[in-house]
Amino acid sequence: MKFNVLTKFITSTLFMLSLSHQANAQQAVDILITHGRILTMNAELSEYADGFVAIKDNKIIAVGPQSQAKQFTADKVLDVDGDLVLPGFINTHTHASMTLFRSLGDDVDDRLHGYLFPLEKEFVSREMVYLGAELGNLEMLKGGVTTYADMYYFEDEVAKAVDEIGMRAVLGQTVIQYPQADAKTAEDGIAYAEKFIQQYKNHPRITPAFAPHAPYTNSTETLQKIARLSLAYNVPVLTHLAESQRELEVITKRTQGLSPIAYLASIGVLNKNLVGAHVILADSQDIALLKQHQVGVAHNISANIKAAKGVAPVVEMLNQGVNVGLGTDGPMSGNTISLLDEFSQVAKVHKLWHQDRSLMPAVEIIKMATMGSAKVLNLDHKIGSLTVNKLADIIVIGTKSPNMTPIYNPYSAIVYSAYATDIRHSIIDGKLLMEDRKALTVNEEDIIKRAHAFSEQIKQSLIKQGKSIL
Ligand SMILES: [Zn+2]
Repeated sequence: MKFNVLTKFITSTLFMLSLSHQANAQQAVDILITHGRILTMNAELSEYADGFVAIKDNKIIAVGPQSQAKQFTADKVLDVDGDLVLPGFINTHTHASMTLFRSLGDDVDDRLHGYLFPLEKEFVSREMVYLGAELGNLEMLKGGVTTYADMYYFEDEVAKAVDEIGMRAVLGQTVIQYPQADAKTAEDGIAYAEKFIQQYKNHPRITPAFAPHAPYTNSTETLQKIARLSLAYNVPVLTHLAESQRELEVITKRTQGLSPIAYLASIGVLNKNLVGAHVILADSQDIALLKQHQVGVAHNISANIKAAKGVAPVVEMLNQGVNVGLGTDGPMSGNTISLLDEFSQVAKVHKLWHQDRSLMPAVEIIKMATMGSAKVLNLDHKIGSLTVNKLADIIVIGTKSPNMTPIYNPYSAIVYSAYATDIRHSIIDGKLLMEDRKALTVNEEDIIKRAHAFSEQIKQSLIKQGKSIL
């Protein structure tokens, strides 16, 4: 009897001791970012002048003032010493693999049909798409992009490269009515896309998608079939939309006078899954249609102004409540795809266009590059802000370079002063993929070496054809 009482006493004492130990115990997490200037980019734009973010598995489990960081312990602590911490940038429109063609035909008239399409006919292959995506991924990672939306051929090769580096992406398999390396007809393109979608539908970081090249390079039947399939598979549709005069002419002729956006509405393919890139040629009725059907818009300012195509009516779109994100377009258009280089151009061009320097304040640009872009890709419940339970896609921007000194308004500093090289760390899906500018999951030197070797083949071929490479 005595023995039993003693045992009970010891057991209950041990239990209480372990409870008090738990009360004082720190919670173990995987990565702890400390002493950052945290810009959460949530709906309230909450900020912490000296704050922390705790990451466990692939999620943000706490964010707040530095005083609360002592509740956590981690194997990996990144003391960022006042640097800026914010959600990763989201590039809503690019063609990563075209990095291998970058700076070719930059100032050539009719670049797309006269220069680019023949170049692609000769060089697009599985190997080229994979290598170009490896290079593009590196550039984006090092520029602070954590998620991107891509449209190209052999998109399963882009997926392989994305899977390897550990980034997040929405990858659209191209469908176009002209024969390409991966599909001879639009029907073949749709079949390729369906196979790709089935293969990647449950990937944790990759969202497969359809990518009809544009309304004018596909038939009505193709566009309608893709819209039907996208709803059945519940995947996005990425397309170039209302981008060029050529598109406007073809569609006006096809429809006896409808604009590209009104045409898509008339054939029933505008919906929440659709992401239109460029959307330059849109009047207020078109914008109302985009809003009504919840179509997302990828705004690609540098490509639009370099191609002398026009200024997309983004201020009007935002005023009408259309979801607008930022994109870079491909590296043959932009020419950089790190997104950050778009920021100041977006602000400045719209100020100039409307002759109002108070338009497009810096914070609006960062909103578009984070939550705005997440909404466009229908990923805003998962990414786009530093919010507890969202996926841990986080960047740290250095504040010690001359161009980032001093910092009064951090949004202004990022939009008008930062270089892509100021991005210091990048975490995607809870994993540190870049630390102090070193990519940790891929071999940067090797990728650049192989890209140079491939560019030699392109150079030799163009020289043989007597084409200018300048
Ligand atoms: Zn594009």
